[in-house]
Amino acid sequence: MINELMPPKRILMGPGPSDVHPHVLKSMATPLVGHLDPHFLKIMDETMDLLRQVYQTENKATMAMSGTGSAGMETVFVNLLEPGDKVIVGVNGLFGQRMVDVAERCGAEVIEVTAPWGSIIKPEDIEQTLKENTDIKLVALVHAETSTGVRQPLEDISRIVHEHDALLVCDMVTSLGGCPTEIDKMGVDAAYSGTQKCLSAPPGLAPVTLGSRAMEVMSRRKQKVQSWYLDLSMIQAYWSEDSERFYHHTAPISMLYALRESLRLIVNEGLENVYARHKSYGDALHAGLEAMGLKLLVEEQYRLSQLTSVVLPEGVDDGKVRSQLLKKYNLEIGGGLGDLKGKIWRIGLMGYNARQENVTYMLAALEDVLREEGFAFEEGAAMKAASQLINV
Ligand SMILES: *Cc1c(COP(=O)(O)O)cnc(C)c1O
Repeated sequence: MINELMPPKRILMGPGPSDVHPHVLKSMATPLVGHLDPHFLKIMDETMDLLRQVYQTENKATMAMSGTGSAGMETVFVNLLEPGDKVIVGVNGLFGQRMVDVAERCGAEVIEVTAPWGSIIKPEDIEQTLKENTDIKLVALVHAETSTGVRQPLEDISRIVHEHDALLVCDMVTSLGGCPTEIDKMGVDAAYSGTQKCLSAPPGLAPVTLGSRAMEVMSRRKQKVQSWYLDLSMIQAYWSEDSERFYHHTAPISMLYALRESLRLIVNEGLENVYARHKSYGDALHAGLEAMGLKLLVEEQYRLSQLTSVVLPEGVDDGKVRSQLLKKYNLEIGGGLGDLKGKIWRIGLMGYNARQENVTYMLAALEDVLREEGFAFEEGAAMKAASQLINV
């Protein structure tokens, strides 16, 4: 006899996946209906409507692609780019690097605007590059860089990009549902996200949204999109409220239940309340970590609340701390990637996990494990600093 699947009950406070909201888990255990069943089409319409609210957009082309966040990235690039197109990508972390790779695979000529990992991409650097290169089709940036914990301000860059008649593309995988995305207000022409970060659902869908300028660029394509699976001209017909809906591929029905439920929870709580909750528990975590004498990687004004990068203190063993947190506390945090491998920890407070007990538990567990590692700090200071910022 083979044992029934019994995964341990972890607390997922790394860079994603984050813990799934119990209501979302429950929604996934409800019976399937057919993917062309009128009831399912209604669920899709509701999901699109909820997605527009959470993305803060009126874009008609707002839907969920089958696949994880990277499929969302690929969707935006394969549909907007044709071989020979020139694009600018801001690279200040791993996901900027991934966008470069994806854009190059589309046959585009990619110009990188870089910044150190942990810093923002400077608007003046984008402007300079746009002045030096004509015919740039799009500029792509990561709004919430999960590999570093940086929140990229969009307002100035959006103005500059549009002055040069280019499209603004944003990776919003870790921002959607965690901080304002303001697609319409910020003039973002295309964005993509994933379900396993601040939406508190499992990985498996990639919500995308495209505005009128992006749709027009797509309509002027000379060549077919090279990916059959991600071709929006076909997918859109299945997602459109006012067209006949026919089979393209079988929608991952249980994942759509999960997405609808996760968006419903966010909209019911109220977007402003959701953002404020992330901010206040993020601030509390930051204060607690700093009170322990730990250094945060990102300058305060550009810090994300939903993902915090902590600089590893001198003499502390990265792997040992993380494995002790997992063994003793069932608590998962992330290590550094790329340039920051072995140099930082990444702590997530995403969606359902942005709660007081998670902040308290994280600080207490970290105190215990760091004490064992011989790291000296003032006992109780972290909790005191954090609790001053938590108003229950
Ligand atoms: C997680 C993440 C991705 C990739 O998403 P997958 O679901 O792992 O494919 C892309 N960009 C950012 C900013 C992310 O945090």
